[in-house]
Amino acid sequence: MSKINNHDFIWHPFTQMKTASPPVHIIRGEGALLFDTSGKQYIDAISSWWTNIHGHAHPYIAQKIYEQAMRLEHVIFAGFTHDPALILAQRLAEDHLPENITKIFYSDNGSTAVEVAVKMAVQYWYNSGTPKKKIIAFKHAYHGDTFGSMSVSDRGDFTRPFHNYLFDVEFISPPLSGHEETSKDQLLAAMQNKDVAAFIYEPLIMGAGGMLMYEPQPLNELLQIAKQHGALCIADEVMTGFYRTGKMFAGNHCATEPDIMCLSKGLTGGTMALGITACAQSIYDAFYSDDRMKAFYHGHSFTANPLACSAALASLDLFEKEECKEKILRVVQSHHNFKSELLQNDSIENVRQRGTVLAFDLITESGTQYFNQVRDKIYAYFMDEGILLRPLGNTIYIMPPYCIKNEELEKIYAGIRTFLKINLSI
Ligand code: PMP
Repeated sequence: MSKINNHDFIWHPFTQMKTASPPVHIIRGEGALLFDTSGKQYIDAISSWWTNIHGHAHPYIAQKIYEQAMRLEHVIFAGFTHDPALILAQRLAEDHLPENITKIFYSDNGSTAVEVAVKMAVQYWYNSGTPKKKIIAFKHAYHGDTFGSMSVSDRGDFTRPFHNYLFDVEFISPPLSGHEETSKDQLLAAMQNKDVAAFIYEPLIMGAGGMLMYEPQPLNELLQIAKQHGALCIADEVMTGFYRTGKMFAGNHCATEPDIMCLSKGLTGGTMALGITACAQSIYDAFYSDDRMKAFYHGHSFTANPLACSAALASLDLFEKEECKEKILRVVQSHHNFKSELLQNDSIENVRQRGTVLAFDLITESGTQYFNQVRDKIYAYFMDEGILLRPLGNTIYIMPPYCIKNEELEKIYAGIRTFLKINLSI
């Protein structure tokens, strides 16, 4: 273990460096467990920012990355191509993505997958000769931290310093229970203006906005309205993709298909940075021209990195095993049983589950804000117990890797049970 003082050189994400506790120094991971320098183990109950799918340091994925690294670690993706990118694109398009989604554009993280989607939608209309300006998004949405992805995200504490620099977006209510009609009315009203280029949404679970969940049916109705009025639908599946909701994509719970999909996080099993913006043929066709100015001038140095594509292929191999489907079902069922118990507890509210994600809100005096003391207390309590939970304000959620063992799930549930008994002073 290195003796370097962390704060001498490192600036951590989403962290007030002055007041934050020293970071936990992790040296190894295995399955759903992380091990620190003192040998203490933590159950990764949030899949390390929602990325990890099959477990840490998975030997099969590691082997595939190693084999690829010994052949070709990286190559420029303009003017060149390679097998991992080709095979991954074909497997996703033919076996996993909705039928209308046929083309894969690679980038390198969730924010850039969204950035690309928004630019693609805007240039689609520009290239088609009918430029459109307006983008519609949900209140409470989170789509990333770059300027474009921040622009289509809700305005809040994190984005405040940048508000003057973000482009205008029309925000409508998400169709949360009891707000379905409002959401529909607001979308219909926004669509009266013929200038709508795209509607972007996190399907079924709005992650960073507080693990807010809504049903497929109202989303389906919104998509139909958007499509009838000629807007492109952009599904941000960066968090919901790869069975988090119980199906490969959250959009698979709906009949209406998006025009553009953003993937990242679980795409590589959570092992490497990779982004995909996948789109319908009609979008690709609007850029396909003898006119060079109609090309999509966007690209990142590590676009379609072969190591990341190999990790994604290895993750798909694991998904195709029956064993993986059983693991997912086991997490869904365990959460379902624990949810029934949570519903009896009157110190919490809004107990909700979609697939492998279980969430609830603590009833607290300080309310729901992200920066309240409650969040820090909850985080510290569970870390002491060897459970990594990272509440969003007063919202506690569990989103584990699917390889998590029954006894590890039980330990998380038991930790929550005890916490809810003693938390009354919070
Ligand atoms: N979209 C959604 C729905 C997300 O949850 C996130 C990250 N939490 C992003 C986009 C941004 O992804 P990244 O952190 O890889 O930039």
